[in-house]
Amino acid sequence: MKTNKLGRTGLDVSVIGLGMEHLVPLPDNIAPVVHRALDRGITYIDLMIWVPEVMSILGETLKGRRDQVILAAHLSTAQTKGQYRRTRNPQECEALFHDILDWLGTDHVDVLHLSNLDAPRDYKEVTSPGGVLDLALRLKQEGQTRALGLSGHDPQMALKVIESEHLDVVMHPINIAGDAEPGGKELAQACASLGVGLVAMKPFAGGQVFQRENPISPVQCLSYTLAQPGVSLALMGVKNLAELEANLRFLDATDEEKDFSAALQELRQGLAGTCVYCNHCLPCSATIDIAVVMRMLAAAERYGVGEDGLADYADLSAQASDCIECGDCKERCPFEVDIIANMRRAAQLFEGI
Ligand code: SF4
Ligand code: SF4
Repeated sequence: MKTNKLGRTGLDVSVIGLGMEHLVPLPDNIAPVVHRALDRGITYIDLMIWVPEVMSILGETLKGRRDQVILAAHLSTAQTKGQYRRTRNPQECEALFHDILDWLGTDHVDVLHLSNLDAPRDYKEVTSPGGVLDLALRLKQEGQTRALGLSGHDPQMALKVIESEHLDVVMHPINIAGDAEPGGKELAQACASLGVGLVAMKPFAGGQVFQRENPISPVQCLSYTLAQPGVSLALMGVKNLAELEANLRFLDATDEEKDFSAALQELRQGLAGTCVYCNHCLPCSATIDIAVVMRMLAAAERYGVGEDGLADYADLSAQASDCIECGDCKERCPFEVDIIANMRRAAQLFEGI
């Protein structure tokens, strides 16, 4: 397995890492998948999990192999009755972090992420005096983690945070389906030039690339993600050994099998009518941040409107109902998105108008 430096942390990581999230409901698969992954040279495991039993099984599995892996844990994730939730309470985060070390049977992790940094509100909460960033810095000083990072989905937010110089790693979705994501390329370039390690999550775009009429293979997906500047490793989630083996085919694949250029071209053509959050439609006559509203709408229509989504929407300085339907934005959108119709749907969903 080829390895890369994880930016300025100096840690060597395998170019493919293993995310544990998909194994949470399948605890019997943890030991075989983890052992096989390590045997094939994977040295990075992400712990975006919050279930004590699952952590304990992983700890048991890693007995005698702890030194072979870089473990990346997360601050800000918790659970209530088995349901994932976010927390920015530093006392709760610290208690959970120590539980994680106990469950894993280790005295430190290698990377500790401040998780879900997606909106200005998250940044404010995390960086407030005595907040989660201060906790993370202390844990690093005490040797309980070797490096600090952030995980999130908003490239602009990640760009802002890495300027703070406290964080040496960024975990961000990078996949062929998100090729046109505004700010994505800038984030990758910034990580490369600042020496910030870039962990690319969701290389398979949540599986949507496999469900197309012309499916894109896991090998092509990994090949695209690892070809992006600054990427240290691609983090794959698998449910079982069969999925692991299908992804590890990348290691022996030919150049022809890895070639993603035709798939990328097709994806770009298929974007008509779909917002890619590129901001070409701005400025808006009503100062609406159109791409932000479109992103919130897409998430709400896919996953439902949660409390966090409503709070983020309420923070916007101009909302969808402020749209005066002038149509200027529509003329500027290269992807022929019906922006006015989307603003009407957002107003209905978030404001009940
Ligand atoms: S509506 Fe069109 S121009 Fe505006 S962000 Fe979306 S894709 Fe880009
Ligand atoms: S149509 Fe609505 S969203 Fe588009 S520029 Fe005009 S006010 Fe802004």
